Amino acid sequence: MSAKIIDGFAIANEVRGDVAKEVILLKEKGITPTLAVILVGQNPASVSYVTGKTKALHEAGMKDDTYKLPESTSEEELLTLIKKLNESHSINGILVQLPLPKQINADKVIATIDPKKDVDGFHPENIGRMFLGEETFIPCTPYGVVHLLQHEGVKTEGANVVIVGRSNIVGKPLSLLMLSKEISATVTVCHSKTKDLANVTKQADILIAAIGSPQFVKKEWIKKGAVVIDVGVNRVDDASKKSGFRLVGDVDFEGASQIASYITPVPKGVGPMTIAMLIKNTLLAAKRQNGIK
Ligand code: NDP
Repeated sequence: MSAKIIDGFAIANEVRGDVAKEVILLKEKGITPTLAVILVGQNPASVSYVTGKTKALHEAGMKDDTYKLPESTSEEELLTLIKKLNESHSINGILVQLPLPKQINADKVIATIDPKKDVDGFHPENIGRMFLGEETFIPCTPYGVVHLLQHEGVKTEGANVVIVGRSNIVGKPLSLLMLSKEISATVTVCHSKTKDLANVTKQADILIAAIGSPQFVKKEWIKKGAVVIDVGVNRVDDASKKSGFRLVGDVDFEGASQIASYITPVPKGVGPMTIAMLIKNTLLAAKRQNGIK
């Protein structure tokens, strides 16, 4: 068996194209969705993520208001900036690129963002709303995973979904989405203390890896015909590349694609979807703030 490779890049482009069409309509009403993007320090992965996000915003006809702050920025300085952006009528969304330098408490920063401008969906109020199934901003990576599954017509109702990873930005919100009435999966969430992990993953109709460990999930851990979604993005040394590294996921792609029915590659799987859902959330923020359905 050879799995169908889910083309996250192409699906993300469809989402971005749909967003761009809606932006044209908003602009006719005098509204240009604008996202404030805050980067503290020079973490190479963060710099590259921020570049990708602003490029996607521009391509969709939106504006960015980017702040590149020094590594030495204090928590108070960052909180002051966020409060100013909360008040600004020209800003629809606020994104603070994580991780933050150690002198800054990320939880405090997230909690300071106006929930109505929290396009990452990390604010405690928005997480609570998601828990209750109320209107919210769905965190971008879990939102992207759900969109991929729906795009491919994967049956989720009653499916055994196993998520490996319980982070606040991927595993936990994804587990809530999978439990929602719209998706109605039976959900198991695994982590570093899970016993006999391979035996649990083997039960999955849909296996989602969000671990941060290169090629951790092996072919033998996967049920024949399962759908495999690889959220992981790991840099591994590769002297043949100009950069000196290449990106691999949390799943042994070669092995897994021999047994799965569908699989996402890394790169060009979940990664592009995260950016697409960010611009979708920015559009949503602008619409909601202007009372547009
Ligand atoms: P975290 O480090 O916050 O969480 C990793 C999770 O994996 C934890 O719950 C941890 O368990 C679990 N874990 C670690 N080792 C094991 C193990 N040996 N067995 C079982 N579970 C284990 O990572 P993130 O959720 O932030 O990110 C996960 C991956 O996804 C990373 O590669 C990251 O780069 C990528 N990512 C990709 C995105 C995209 O757009 N494609 C967006 C966000 C993240 P415990 O809680 O017990 O420590």
